[in-house]
Amino acid sequence: MQGEKIIGNLKKLYDIQELDLRISKFEKQLSQIRVLISDESEIDLAKGNRDRLISILDDLSARRRSMERNVSELNERLGSIEKKLYSGAITNPKAMEAAEEEKVFIISQISEAEDSLLEIMVEAEEIEISKTEAVEELSSLEESRPEEIRKLRLQEEQFDVDIHQVRSERDKLVPDIPTMVMSKYESIIQRKGGHAISKVEGGMCQGCRVTLPTLELQKVHNSDDTVQCNNCGRILYLV
Ligand SMILES: [Zn+2]
Repeated sequence: MQGEKIIGNLKKLYDIQELDLRISKFEKQLSQIRVLISDESEIDLAKGNRDRLISILDDLSARRRSMERNVSELNERLGSIEKKLYSGAITNPKAMEAAEEEKVFIISQISEAEDSLLEIMVEAEEIEISKTEAVEELSSLEESRPEEIRKLRLQEEQFDVDIHQVRSERDKLVPDIPTMVMSKYESIIQRKGGHAISKVEGGMCQGCRVTLPTLELQKVHNSDDTVQCNNCGRILYLV
């Protein structure tokens, strides 16, 4: 009688284990979903990219303004030298020569400054395009995020429901298992993780795939109590 009872209980204990495995699988998926819900890294990255480009553009436009001032100052200087040269104000040939040299020098400086200005403008144009793309990318991420979160929340809710349902199935089975057996099961789970009871099939413990010695197999057949695998320590369940 006692033996029959244990055998029936072991079937239920095995079912409890199946349910526990399902619960832990669901819980793992649930925690992955929660990570996705709180993960704003993609948006943060896009924001960082946009801000970086904006600050490059700010820097370029400061350089552009300074270069424009430089060009206009040089043009003013050129204007005043030309005025002096062509107004007949300089009569000394040496002074005339010096003024001519300065004029040539300023013209070359203007040309250099204008080249730099052009480079800055070309670079700014390219960065402006990248910034526009970055802004678009960010806004598309921000737009799609609420819908993404809504879907994830639905999945989260569904997993909560599923876990609750499996748990209540499990809770119905637990009272049929002797407390001693249940606590043995829990402690093996803690040590082994996941599987505490294993089927015996073809004379083999399916938990560790080791063939059971005849004596142990007989014990599983005849014992009124639970028998644990000598090799892996799991509770043996003869199908
Ligand atoms: Zn084993």
